[in-house]
Amino acid sequence: MKKHKIALIPGDGIGPEVVAEGVKVLKAIEQADENLSFEFTEFPWGCEYYLENGKMMDEDGLEQLKDFDVIYLGAVGYPGVPDHISLWDLLLKIRKGFDQYVNLRPVTLLNPSLTPLKNKTEKDIDFLVIRENSEGEYAGAGDWLFKGKPEEVALQTGVFSRKGTERIIRYAFEEARKRKKTLTSISKANALNYSMVFWDEVFEEVSKEYPDVGTYSYLVDAASMFFVMQPERFEIVVTSNLFGDILTDIGAAITGGMGLATGANINPDREFPSMFEPVHGSAPDISGKGLANPIAAIWSIAQMMDFFGEEEWGKQIVTTIKKLIDEGEQLTPDLGGKASTEELGSHFTNLL
Ligand code: ATP
Ligand code: MG
Repeated sequence: MKKHKIALIPGDGIGPEVVAEGVKVLKAIEQADENLSFEFTEFPWGCEYYLENGKMMDEDGLEQLKDFDVIYLGAVGYPGVPDHISLWDLLLKIRKGFDQYVNLRPVTLLNPSLTPLKNKTEKDIDFLVIRENSEGEYAGAGDWLFKGKPEEVALQTGVFSRKGTERIIRYAFEEARKRKKTLTSISKANALNYSMVFWDEVFEEVSKEYPDVGTYSYLVDAASMFFVMQPERFEIVVTSNLFGDILTDIGAAITGGMGLATGANINPDREFPSMFEPVHGSAPDISGKGLANPIAAIWSIAQMMDFFGEEEWGKQIVTTIKKLIDEGEQLTPDLGGKASTEELGSHFTNLL
């Protein structure tokens, strides 16, 4: 029997609502599979915690989390708490503290009705974005000079280390090789004449170790267009932190919106826990009303199962999401249905 220790951080807004449905799915899997068991520990961290205690999480938060196998996170963010605080003091603290340098974001169309693109079906939109998750444009490096003066200047420095660039590109090549897919690198070397020239060079170097993997290289502006016009070009994509952030929102838009987009933050060396979360935020506009779509949070359980080596369950979850969408009867309002978060979640576990 394999026992997995899961830290739950439901967080703010719709976070707790969607995490509750994900936990239901985990419990259903535990029931159905006698070889699997999960142990849950919940942490009350987030913006409410910040408003009461002046901190998003405990000072020794990483210490408290480090012995878990995985973290399952809802969302953090609250009107009145600046985004850079909620982001840096919890989400990025965990991603960076646990060196979760790989961000896996599938872009998978489950039903043609979900895409605003004309004449695109499931076979046209089915790829994986591998986003660098530890440095790059989000390294937090920069300066703010002459604050409030006419000559005021803000500097934001992209940090691309050899170690950081090589390891994400190598990870992507390994995935492409394992899945027998092509790999597309997305950068912007014509305008970012240090960081992206370096990125392209490293991509070129590492590619020599993988002669069996077909490669493409696009500028991010062209790639943005192809995401919309010809998404069938892509199989595995590797890109930097900022570009990956933006491109995967396009990815979400062409596959059904924020209610469906999932993301895994992986520490491949398994030295520290990895973290699974829906891509969406706390969505204060719809929180507390049972309107949130829990599919993104449920899909991240599929990624968690893959990470545990339980790929059959991973597949089963995605197939069940597809079944639920094909049926079209128990969908939340963002997908044109009338079901509540809880109703969709319960229906899902019945179908599983
Ligand atoms: P945060 O500040 O935490 O990032 P946000 O206001 O940016 O929150 P997001 O959650 O990122 O909100 O999403 C933007 C909008 O998309 C929301 O305001 C909401 O209307 C919609 N949305 C996001 N997630 C969902 C979901 N799971 N189900 C339905 N609608 C959603
Ligand atoms: Mg947001």
